[in-house]
Amino acid sequence: MNSQRLYPQAKKRLGQHFLADEMIAQAIVAASGVGPDARVVEIGPGPGALTVWLMRACGRVWAIEFDATLIPLLEKRVAGLGVLHVERADALRVNYRALAETSGGALTIVANLPYNVGTAILMHLVEQREAIAGMTVMLQTEVAERLAAAPGSKAYGALSVMCGMWMSVEAVLEVPPSAFRPPPKVHSTVIRLTPRSRPLAETKDLDLFSQVVHAAFGQRRKVLGNALKVLGADARLWLTRAGIDPERRGETLSIPEFARLTNLLADERIASGAAPISVS
Ligand code: SAM
Repeated sequence: MNSQRLYPQAKKRLGQHFLADEMIAQAIVAASGVGPDARVVEIGPGPGALTVWLMRACGRVWAIEFDATLIPLLEKRVAGLGVLHVERADALRVNYRALAETSGGALTIVANLPYNVGTAILMHLVEQREAIAGMTVMLQTEVAERLAAAPGSKAYGALSVMCGMWMSVEAVLEVPPSAFRPPPKVHSTVIRLTPRSRPLAETKDLDLFSQVVHAAFGQRRKVLGNALKVLGADARLWLTRAGIDPERRGETLSIPEFARLTNLLADERIASGAAPISVS
């Protein structure tokens, strides 16, 4: 632990908790597996706790930081370690597909994500999955558990399905609040997300898949036959036709079952003449 280093005044609204433990920073970069050939994108580098180790491993990093005041500190900290392309931008608005094209291939994301928008940034990346080679990110433990959860577990929900369809998720490191300045109120977990070579199931309509999943978990106390009525009065009929008991709850459905239900619903909508929901 480097207790001598001075950290910038943290901005709560930007989820700033700066990593102060060099061993953990090194371990995160080692877990990401990056080497000189990787196209590494760091989201929210802050004053550079991870960036220095990324630069040492790869010699080149693309960094996206929202807080312009931190960029001079970052540049100073990594000076002489290689090439840093730093952009002052909101990671939620970055076009990672375009970045993969300009940088010459799929991106490896490494980040200690800001807690307040970490989930949204991660899902923005999952949506652009063809531009991603892999991700090693730190999040609050509760969110990491939801991402990695299996059907039937308490943590299993819309996030588990919308991520697990395309990514395998493994926890690699637990990080206590004492590793940060200032310490957050929650524990953190580093997870590694690897794009699947094929999604866990085929869906005919991604927008509809997302609607079905969110409706199923929207009212967790309701059985599916009732929860899915927000999508149409015939919810029980669709479930029965898809071979799913309408008395089951959303948290028991596997990803292939969600896909089967979506595909049946998409076919029903086409057959009944309702405009199909467009594929995003
Ligand atoms: N990587 C540094 C570390 O480990 O010490 C800082 C991590 S801190 C938890 C999150 C960082 O993300 C901060 O530097 C913050 O300014 C930045 N950030 C917050 N919201 C952002 C956004 N929407 N886009 C890009 N960066 C953001």
